[in-house]
Amino acid sequence: MIKFLKGRPTHCCIDHAAVRWNLRQIKKTIGPHVKILSMVKANAYGHGAVEVARTLAKSGSDAFGVATVEEGIELRRARITQPILVLAGVYLEQLDQFLRNKLTPVVHEAATLGALDNALRARKTKLKIHVEIDTGMGRIGFPTSEIDSWLPLFGQLESLILDGVFSHFSDAETANEKYTQGQLAQFHQVLSRLKSTNTVPATSHMAKSAALVTTPASHLSMVRPGLILYGMYPAPEMKKQIVLKPVLSWRTRIIQLKRSPTRTYIGYGRTFVTKRNSLIATLPVGYADGYRRLLSNHAVVLVRGKRAPVVGRVSMDLTTVDVTDIRKVREGDEVVLLGRQGAAEISAGEMAAWANTISYEVLTSIGARVPRIHYNT
Ligand SMILES: *Cc1c(COP(=O)(O)O)cnc(C)c1O
Repeated sequence: MIKFLKGRPTHCCIDHAAVRWNLRQIKKTIGPHVKILSMVKANAYGHGAVEVARTLAKSGSDAFGVATVEEGIELRRARITQPILVLAGVYLEQLDQFLRNKLTPVVHEAATLGALDNALRARKTKLKIHVEIDTGMGRIGFPTSEIDSWLPLFGQLESLILDGVFSHFSDAETANEKYTQGQLAQFHQVLSRLKSTNTVPATSHMAKSAALVTTPASHLSMVRPGLILYGMYPAPEMKKQIVLKPVLSWRTRIIQLKRSPTRTYIGYGRTFVTKRNSLIATLPVGYADGYRRLLSNHAVVLVRGKRAPVVGRVSMDLTTVDVTDIRKVREGDEVVLLGRQGAAEISAGEMAAWANTISYEVLTSIGARVPRIHYNT
């Protein structure tokens, strides 16, 4: 059962039955021999990292991926015991936090590799790491083109244990298969070069959501899904390949209804003027909640199972919608910003298109002041 909050009615509902469903579909896709590292960075894409990770851990996720040490510590404090990979940068100053919390850093360049190894030797302790290879993302990682210069370094490690090696696809969502295949081929070359020097890491991984669905050859020993765990499709074509359930819905209520005669200006900058006798509803949500200002005069919301357009500018804490065509609308009516109401639905992908962005940014932008209500946990 969903518990409703007292006070401001703006909140997100997080459906943990949908999380479990999505994880099961991933397992079906990859088979029993491939492990799953669930990406729960950025507060589990805005869904609530601790709660989502608990559900995933209970349902058989083998490991977790976060961006920062702080995100990893949050999971350890919540008694997540699986390996946690910290993917978006490792800083020598945080070495003790890695050790104390049993977090696994990702090392992506030679200087840090050497410095970490030395620092650990001085502490007389060892640490497992994963190493990122740049096969064409052009971002962090040891570049494949310079393999002859960095490969020997792995043979010289004393205190770092090469537990995993991985790479990241840059273009797996689009039909640009050739580039994706090229990245995979380069990664295989790196793996065989490692083998030839007798440095064989326990795990090798490459696939994020899109590649997990479209490119089975990229599954290797582990996959790193993010978006599909939350029930979103990296590209609409993938609906044919995997059936997902959206986990998050974003809801609020009408706090005022106002009769606004023809030629009434609505909101900051007077960007909307009524063209008929209108009924304008105000919602207690704004860009400070992550309801982006780009949605001004572009979005729709659901009221009584129907679509109603956002009119005027979204302001920091309030948004106005035209509900003239919604029969029997009342103050206090539930409004769905994202998710399902009756037969109608607004997906994160649709909202992203209105705001000229991607579903990832829509989800991770939902503000910290919007309470997450977890159900079916
Ligand atoms: C975020 C991230 C993922 C997950 O990507 P999705 O497209 O959400 O599945 C995988 N790998 C790395 C390195 C990431 O940063």
